[in-house]
Amino acid sequence: MSADPINPVAPESTLPYPPLFKGKKFVVLSDWDGTITTKDSNDFMTDTLGMGVEGRRQLNHDILTEKDTFRDGFRKMMESVVANGHSYEECKEHLRANIQLDPGFLEFYNFCKANDIPIIIVSSGMEPTIRAVLSNLLPAEAAETIPIISNDAEYLDDTPEHKKWTIKYRHPSSGFGHDKSQSIIPYTSLPPDERPVTIFFGDGVSDMSAAKHADHLFVKLKSFGENDLAAYCTREGIPHRTFTDFSDVVPVVREMVEKAKSA
Ligand SMILES: [Mg+2]
Repeated sequence: MSADPINPVAPESTLPYPPLFKGKKFVVLSDWDGTITTKDSNDFMTDTLGMGVEGRRQLNHDILTEKDTFRDGFRKMMESVVANGHSYEECKEHLRANIQLDPGFLEFYNFCKANDIPIIIVSSGMEPTIRAVLSNLLPAEAAETIPIISNDAEYLDDTPEHKKWTIKYRHPSSGFGHDKSQSIIPYTSLPPDERPVTIFFGDGVSDMSAAKHADHLFVKLKSFGENDLAAYCTREGIPHRTFTDFSDVVPVVREMVEKAKSA
């Protein structure tokens, strides 16, 4: 099989996928860190509990200049947190106390719920920490049930607080660790009468694998910079809309929904 840059051979997944939402007009897939949250929780954990900002920035630079893969660079960051003696439970609490939701996300979440639009979180982070932070920010039922397609944590000892842990990648054979295109392609490959319009939200390097695949791409711009996805899309000529928080997005998606109803 030849490698197609748009639909490369799917990497094998070590983790299950949630069932597809069928019969929907729209499906929203969104990055978590720096998109639904105001800052990247893994960067924050590395900066405050692990190797620190300087080491983390150096690794980010190595990833951007392709000296290292996202998968291997990110593992080094998480290993520095474990090496400093921080258990997984401690990391969860640290993130719950410090990570905030985009100020417009709850409005967008409620808009999607009212319009029968599923939201799926597609992340290069770890599911248990994402759910821990969500439980702070969304109604309990939503925090427990919103589908998350991400990596996972692997516990390497039997202590209740999980002193020794590591990241378990969904796609260990991919340099991304988690190839986000694999969350969108099952929707865009459905037969026309079942295929929803796909809308993807992202901000950073980990979203490059998804950028070309969704019908509509929204790229978040952050005032403190690190707008890597915007730079990538501009360079590659990938059509996208920019936004600063999710309240910008509600009227745009509302218009798409209205248009689809009258079509
Ligand atoms: Mg991100």
